[in-house]
Amino acid sequence: MRILLTGRTGQVGNALLSTLQHLHQTEIIAPQRTQMDLNNPDQIRQLVRDIKPDLIINPAAYTAVDKAETEADLAQTVNGEIPGLMAEEVKKIGGALIHYSTDYVFDGSKRAKDNSLIAYIEEDQTAPVNVYGATKLAGEQAIIANNCNHLILRTSWVYSTFGKNFLLTMLRLANEREELKIVNDQWGAPTWAGWIAQATTDIVSQWQLAGMSQDWWEEQGGTYNFTSGGATNWCGFAQEIMAQADAKGLLKKNAPVVLGIPSADYPTPAKRPVNSILSSGKLRDKFGIQPPTWQDALAACLVSANN
Ligand code: NDP
Repeated sequence: MRILLTGRTGQVGNALLSTLQHLHQTEIIAPQRTQMDLNNPDQIRQLVRDIKPDLIINPAAYTAVDKAETEADLAQTVNGEIPGLMAEEVKKIGGALIHYSTDYVFDGSKRAKDNSLIAYIEEDQTAPVNVYGATKLAGEQAIIANNCNHLILRTSWVYSTFGKNFLLTMLRLANEREELKIVNDQWGAPTWAGWIAQATTDIVSQWQLAGMSQDWWEEQGGTYNFTSGGATNWCGFAQEIMAQADAKGLLKKNAPVVLGIPSADYPTPAKRPVNSILSSGKLRDKFGIQPPTWQDALAACLVSANN
């Protein structure tokens, strides 16, 4: 099997570069950004035609949520148009596309009758509240419109020991500050890039075991929530990071006190949904994959950082 992997310098792409190596008889082609600029549709089209992959895995994206508010055209090309182009090209050669999307396709207003927050399922109505979410939703729709063999994996709050993310920001601030004030009214599931890569590789190997058949996509293709289990808010995530990092001796001084604040006290250019908790029931039912709790995934990530 030949896989074309995008975004090798990103959190998920970098982790995939390691986990995909474990697949049998698989060639992984992961070009640098200079050979694969997702703001250059002609280049991407030609690349797919030259490589003729059995599978494209596309974790590359315009992920700067706040900056997207003022760079909407660039975000729309990278997130909204290129995935559709990949779907169109891969369909012509009988291949498949695994694409990642986001919890931010939802507006965050889902609640139970008693007003408590409940998890979104895949079929819930999408209604992004920011430009990034709107461009990612456009990408999903473009893939579906092209009707190629595909999986759209919606993840959330991605972190790793690599790249730019909330975990690394908290670990840096832990050594600089005595007190941190973190938003406590946005709820979701922090998800480790290492788990995303491992679970994706597991899915690809299930396809391999099925003889890489077309029928497999009829059964298994579609949109899936792809996050850790459980839910927290950013303040709760920060407190858990401090507790686990302290217990593992990763901090250079006593952990700072982490206090919760409302989003109104931390204004950002892009609005964020209050509730972006995603149910993983479909992933479990269709692929037998049970995501770890967000706390266990954090522990696994910090162990990997120590090794
Ligand atoms: P990162 O921001 O860590 O990585 C993005 C990757 O995309 C980088 O390799 C980057 O390259 C590449 N990229 C961006 N623009 C271009 C371009 N014009 N041409 C070529 N490559 C480009 O993303 P994650 O790994 O965190 O995200 C993976 C997926 O998960 C994405 O689809 C994202 O939308 C989704 N997601 C992420 C969340 C998060 O919290 N990060 C939350 C929910 C969903 P370079 O290093 O050169 O910039």
